[in-house]
Amino acid sequence: MSTTAEAVEARTLPVVPSGLGELCVLLKLGEIVLKGSNRKLFERRLHNNIRAAARGLGDVRLNQRGAGVIVLRLPEADDAQVAELAQRMAGVMGIVWVHLVRRVDKDLEAVRDVAVQSMSGRSGTFAVRARRRDKRFPLSSSEIAQDLGASIQRVHELPVRLKRPDHTLSVEVDRDEVFVYTDGIPGQGGLPVGMSGRGLVLMSGGIDSPVAAHRMMRRGLKVDFLHFSGMPFTGPESIYKAYSLVRQLDRYQSSSRLFVVPFGKAQQQLKTSGADRLQIVAQRRLMLATAEALAERLGAECLVTGDALGQVSSQTLTNMTALDDAVDLPILRPLVGMDKTEIMEQARAIETLAISELPDEDCCTLLTPRQVETAAKVSDLRQIERRLDAPQVAEQLAASAQLHRPSFLAAAEAAPAGERASEPTPA
Ligand code: ATP
Ligand code: MG
Repeated sequence: MSTTAEAVEARTLPVVPSGLGELCVLLKLGEIVLKGSNRKLFERRLHNNIRAAARGLGDVRLNQRGAGVIVLRLPEADDAQVAELAQRMAGVMGIVWVHLVRRVDKDLEAVRDVAVQSMSGRSGTFAVRARRRDKRFPLSSSEIAQDLGASIQRVHELPVRLKRPDHTLSVEVDRDEVFVYTDGIPGQGGLPVGMSGRGLVLMSGGIDSPVAAHRMMRRGLKVDFLHFSGMPFTGPESIYKAYSLVRQLDRYQSSSRLFVVPFGKAQQQLKTSGADRLQIVAQRRLMLATAEALAERLGAECLVTGDALGQVSSQTLTNMTALDDAVDLPILRPLVGMDKTEIMEQARAIETLAISELPDEDCCTLLTPRQVETAAKVSDLRQIERRLDAPQVAEQLAASAQLHRPSFLAAAEAAPAGERASEPTPA
């Protein structure tokens, strides 16, 4: 998983100087390698996801090399477009490392030229790492490393250091060509999105739910998003936030859907049904029941929330159990054992924190009772729900959901910053 520093580094991924060899993208895969007989299925899913993330960049040639490596080529493109392709791959689940590489003929002389060029303008120590996927190549890995290391030393006068060098030059000998590269950027790891089925994320404008969504996508879940706004009693700000958050998360799966439900009136109804200290837990149960109704239409097999044990009074163990009681679908809570500081670190790494920290009026703070019940009784909650005819309300709320399609790529391709053309117009 990338950190903020790595994300910054990602934007400045060094391109091995041009002139020699075609610039390509080399992807190193992780867990996918371990999946035995299902491997083909996983690879197909990953290939589809890679193609979706590369949309608009032209004719991407994808080539699977063995189990753990994919080579992407954009024969018609310039270096900037290939670099853009590499950046996009850093968001695709299932990829562990992304490298911008020069593809060189299987000729030691040519490899030497690219290797020497690649290290120009650098200071500090270096090491060469070589590996052969094609064992027929006349030199062994260590012979290749020694040969290239000596050439680089001679031309640039850089000292070799095998343990923790400042720069690493990597050389991979494949069947038809040799790949040469210096640095890489860490990918997301995990499993390709879609491999683990479909889920529906309850998405507030807060810090936790986007992190929860990312965690589940990373485990191969394809997700849709559901946001409850306090409208008509609050402004549309929380919807804008949810929209921006989903657009950012769309980078990790593409084709994301955001459903928005105006929840203010239902909250009011719960209050008049005498929810009192149970208002928050009753609201959360109604949200979950609505999510379940929507999930059925979408074919989602689980619900996802950003709950963390004990983080706020509605997230005590007793209250979480009372929430589980509201629906039949499993509720996945990937953040349940995390501290707020850890969650914030993750939010920064996936670049949702700044959006989550924008001010808004969250629907949950509407009608918050002075004291929140920390040990809600299911029987009391069910009584409130009977007065309200909660299942019918949930069905109606699900039917009222407004669909938006926040797209990371459309936003990246869109004209000037600040333009709101693709943003939602709340009813
Ligand atoms: P977050 O930072 O994600 O808002 P939180 O710490 O504020 O979480 P709560 O407000 O208790 O905690 O919400 C817990 C979870 O309930 C959220 O992570 C989210 O999954 C769901 N949730 C809360 N409010 C909403 C909302 N307005 N729309 C959709 N889901 C919500
Ligand atoms: Mg919240």
